[in-house]
Amino acid sequence: MALAAGPEKQSGKLVVRNVGLMLSGRLDEPILDADTVVAEGGRITAVGRGKDCDAEGARVTIDARGCALAPGLIDNHVHTVFGDWTPRQNQLGWIEGCMHGGVTTMISAGEVHLPGRPRDPVGAKALAIVARKAFENFRPLGMRIIAGAVIPERGLTEADFAEMARAGVVLMGEIGLGTVTGAEEAREMVGWARAHGMTTVTHVGGPSVPGSSYIGADVVLAADSDVASHINGGPTSLDLAQIRRICEETTRAVEIIHNGNPRTGLYAMRTMRELGKEAQLTVGTDAPAGSGVQPLGMLRMVSLLSSLGEVPAERAWAWASGNVAAVRRLEAGTIATGMSADLVLMDRPQGSDGRDVLDALGKGDLAGIGMVLTEGVVRIGRSRNTPPAERIPEIVS
Ligand SMILES: [Zn+2]
Repeated sequence: MALAAGPEKQSGKLVVRNVGLMLSGRLDEPILDADTVVAEGGRITAVGRGKDCDAEGARVTIDARGCALAPGLIDNHVHTVFGDWTPRQNQLGWIEGCMHGGVTTMISAGEVHLPGRPRDPVGAKALAIVARKAFENFRPLGMRIIAGAVIPERGLTEADFAEMARAGVVLMGEIGLGTVTGAEEAREMVGWARAHGMTTVTHVGGPSVPGSSYIGADVVLAADSDVASHINGGPTSLDLAQIRRICEETTRAVEIIHNGNPRTGLYAMRTMRELGKEAQLTVGTDAPAGSGVQPLGMLRMVSLLSSLGEVPAERAWAWASGNVAAVRRLEAGTIATGMSADLVLMDRPQGSDGRDVLDALGKGDLAGIGMVLTEGVVRIGRSRNTPPAERIPEIVS
């Protein structure tokens, strides 16, 4: 298992040219009139037509050979533990597998699967701090992993949140995974986390892991966390009336996950769009879980929401990249100057009925991934997990 280069190993200037189709990851302009991306020091410095971009002095030049380029997918909901291992399925290498599915950033919703997970406040706090620090030092294939999501347990105090924030913790895990399950206590803890710069999430639906709780619309809305996690259940869903109520009343993000209820996921997506709240839609997998690990889970969500939901795939891609980055305040997830150069090059999969990769996704197929970069560094070539892409980019210098 290769321990990939971190940002400190950044090379110089990167140029990606001959892009056939450029997705921005933004809903206001999901497809860009551009065929070239330039990056330096891991950040995008120019996006445009080749003739308008300064490609001089490139240390690495990639000929996309007409492939589509998109921002790396950001999985808004994973359950990392330690290393590239999940005790839930006793599986190694799942994080690397996800990069082969176009994911370049994953965000923990709590290290809840740790065998023997401590549930006392000191233990919960220590686990979050260690997970955060460990994943800053450990990036399988260059995956950015924002881990260390403190599980909301009774007894944690505002002083604990201050201490965790000083130690670098930026996330609170799902309300409902720990002992905090009531509306008032949830709201108070979300407030402490928010005051100390953390983003927060609330489990929605029936219990997931043993010991977790049913969380209905009343608690979700009262907690007012940054994300209503898996509005389509993790995996057991609320009824449609409660889902509609959350969609109508929340001013925060709503997340649809792979390991949930596909029927209510589509309902929530349609409802949010009807309400004019598409900018608040986010996507995750909620893996690893009892349902397993899906290296292509994020791609499958783009395909599912686009095809069955009858939404252009470039919009679903934005829910799974730029929208998540906006909620999590990440300088990533969109193809724009200043953003992290986390790039996926892809094409229609061989044999697909789709005329291009967007049409393939819109018809329920996956994308064929030919290359993934994080922070401007090529991490993988042809994906070992997607069906083979029609065309593959090439490193020409
Ligand atoms: Zn959950």
